[in-house]
Amino acid sequence: MKYSEDEMLMLSGIQHFYFCKRQWALIHVENQWVENVRTIEGKHIHEKADDPFIVETRGDIVIARSVPVSSSEIGLYGIADVIEFRRTKNEGVSFSDKEGLWMPVPVEYKRGEPKDDARDEVQLCAQAMCLEEMLGLKIEKGYIFYNSIKRRTEVDFDKGLRASVIKLSKEMHSMFNEKKTPKARREKYCRACSMEEVCQPKVTGKRCRVKDYIKKGLAEE
Ligand code: SF4
Repeated sequence: MKYSEDEMLMLSGIQHFYFCKRQWALIHVENQWVENVRTIEGKHIHEKADDPFIVETRGDIVIARSVPVSSSEIGLYGIADVIEFRRTKNEGVSFSDKEGLWMPVPVEYKRGEPKDDARDEVQLCAQAMCLEEMLGLKIEKGYIFYNSIKRRTEVDFDKGLRASVIKLSKEMHSMFNEKKTPKARREKYCRACSMEEVCQPKVTGKRCRVKDYIKKGLAEE
């Protein structure tokens, strides 16, 4: 199935969806957004990568920043922090002003340490799948740079990770069409959630839209 332009969803949402479906729905279905220290830190780190249209060459690597990506197959669009094009012999894209072939390798910048789940990997793999569709080639790996440890971890885009991206993307589209926000489930990770104040996981443990919840509260007052 191919998604039309109107059906495309933000690629960055896939990490929210993986972390907590309710968080994703609050942000992407109900358009609520709250900044906390973590999201502000995250933005600051991204500012270093988000330097639109800059392309620089370092030896056998061409670096492009803030690259728009999209895929009608998975119905996602967004901006890739950095794409490194590495010189290869067999497969890759060509540049009009450079000799040879160049394989794109996506690099995503994150605050904090590597997570104990695969939300960052899923986001990076979704970027790679967009690039594959746009450029007509297969991308085997990418990297995530974690600010707190100041180094990259390699991510293999294997079958399992690709299947997760496809599954999550389908679920996101279906939830978006239904316009239903899942009920809150208070977990330890809620403390690190930028949407905790809006979500009110203690009191919204039933399926309802936050807007409706607030409206109800005001009516009662
Ligand atoms: S506070 Fe908890 S339940 Fe609510 S959106 Fe955040 S992670 Fe999800």
